Amino acid sequence: MVGDQDYFVITTNVEHCFQKAGFDKKSLFYTQGDYGLFQCSEPCCEEIFDNEDLIRQMMKEQKNMRFPTELHPRKSNDRLFISMVI
Ligand SMILES: [Zn+2]
Repeated sequence: MVGDQDYFVITTNVEHCFQKAGFDKKSLFYTQGDYGLFQCSEPCCEEIFDNEDLIRQMMKEQKNMRFPTELHPRKSNDRLFISMVI
């Protein structure tokens, strides 16, 4: 759609659709967050992380609405992640 044009998208879509369609996440601003991304639970950095593989693994391994502790999203410094919500 945008081809080689320079672009920046401001969206209320929270379902990760722009990235699934190939848009660069650096050119997106999600005014209501993005359920396809994690960010640190504390404002220690501006990194965001795709979470699809981990979420799929959690769904696969969940029992009684719980998933194994070792799947709790953590960064190497052991900080917790949360879903990205603005
Ligand atoms: Zn951080």
